[in-house]
Amino acid sequence: MSATLIKGKPIADRIRAQVAEDVAAIGHIGLVTVLVGDDPASDVYIRLKHKAAVAAGIDATDLRLPEETSEAELLAKVEELDADPLVDAILVQLPLPKQIDEAKILRALAPAKDVDGFHPVNAGQLYLGEPTLVPATPRGVMAMLAEHDVELTGARAVVIGRSAIVGKPMAHLLLQQNATVTICHSRTKDLARHTLEADVLIAAVGVPGMVTPDMVKPGGVVIDVGINRTDDGIVGDVDPEAAEVAGFLTPVPGGVGPMTIACLLENAVRCSRYRRGELAYPS
Ligand code: NAD
Repeated sequence: MSATLIKGKPIADRIRAQVAEDVAAIGHIGLVTVLVGDDPASDVYIRLKHKAAVAAGIDATDLRLPEETSEAELLAKVEELDADPLVDAILVQLPLPKQIDEAKILRALAPAKDVDGFHPVNAGQLYLGEPTLVPATPRGVMAMLAEHDVELTGARAVVIGRSAIVGKPMAHLLLQQNATVTICHSRTKDLARHTLEADVLIAAVGVPGMVTPDMVKPGGVVIDVGINRTDDGIVGDVDPEAAEVAGFLTPVPGGVGPMTIACLLENAVRCSRYRRGELAYPS
């Protein structure tokens, strides 16, 4: 068997075109990205997000603050952006330097401007199954599954990884679509016993090639969220040989990655609609 590859770019391109239309119709959407320090990986992510936002017509500001920025200074900046009527959406790039408490900064964001969907209010709404701002990567995965008509009702879905950015929101979105969801993590015993039952397997771990072909259910859908920099370039969490067993597989690169940025831009549109009262923000 050789899996059908689920490529992200064509779906992401469509989403980005729709975002560009939405931006043109709305007239102005202000997005501010905040990067503290000069972490090279974060710099790359911010540049990509900024470029995509500008290409969609979003008024994007790439705010850079020095590594030694204090927590109080960053809080003051976030509060200023919260109050700025020209700013619809705010993204604080993680990780933050160690002198800054990330949770405190995320809580300071106005929930309706929290384009990443990391504020506890947005995470709580997701937990309750209510509409809200949902983190972009898991939303992108859901769009890929929908694009390929993957039946989720009653399906066994296994998510490897329990981060607040990918694993947990991913599990909630699958649950909302009536999948029977198992979350596996670093303390899970006999991981393969779970993954082998997965009609839909999502790997969001950060360990290159850790999902081997013998861990995949024949014909199953395998979504590889992992982005790992190695001497051989960027690789996922799933061994590409798994394509011999899976029915569908997302490649790395070119799979989930492009979807994250597209869905982030969609969230910026949603933030703008909340602010304009076109969508009711849950409060
Ligand atoms: P994280 O480090 O916060 O979480 C990793 C999770 O994997 C943890 O919950 C941990 O319990 C689990 N884990 C670690 N070792 C394990 C093991 N041996 N067996 C089972 N579970 C194990 O990482 P994250 O932020 O959730 O990101 C995960 C991966 O996804 C990374 O490679 C990251 O670069 C990638 N990522 C990709 C995108 C994208 O756009 N494609 C977006 C975000 C993250």
